[in-house]
Amino acid sequence: MDRLSAEQRHKNMAAIHSKDTKPEMIVRKGLWSKGFRYRLNSPRLPGHPDLVLRKYRTCIFVNGCFWHGHEGCCKIPNTNREFWVAKIKRNQERDIETQKRLAEMGWHCITIWECELKPSKREQTLKSLAFTLNKIWLEEHAVIGKPYLKLEEEDGMLRAAEERE
Ligand SMILES: [Zn+2]
Repeated sequence: MDRLSAEQRHKNMAAIHSKDTKPEMIVRKGLWSKGFRYRLNSPRLPGHPDLVLRKYRTCIFVNGCFWHGHEGCCKIPNTNREFWVAKIKRNQERDIETQKRLAEMGWHCITIWECELKPSKREQTLKSLAFTLNKIWLEEHAVIGKPYLKLEEEDGMLRAAEERE
């Protein structure tokens, strides 16, 4: 057995588990620089989302590919394989449950994967994140019916103007 790599793995896990993991910092800085404001690790919401954007009614989860079992990306070690498979499966089930509960509460959920924040993909990922948030905002505000009401108001004003003529 390779003791060194086991120790290294332990170190990696400790790093991944800390609150200010690097991938999350990339997302935070990226959003902040694009003018988005957020809260961190909101304890009152299911699953304690990494970032919460109230204005966009959106929770963002920055997921490590290993811990959350990113498909085609998560490489499970051969040592203790069954343990890891079971553990990661539990995490995935918890993720699904969390997002289901948040959706029921009217929250949008966005998952950003660690591998999408590699230097070569980072800018594109942050751009499409901003795009998605803006799209959510527009949809949220269109559904409430404001544009429709506004059109009706304008119609009314037009009619009033026509009647005066
Ligand atoms: Zn991945």
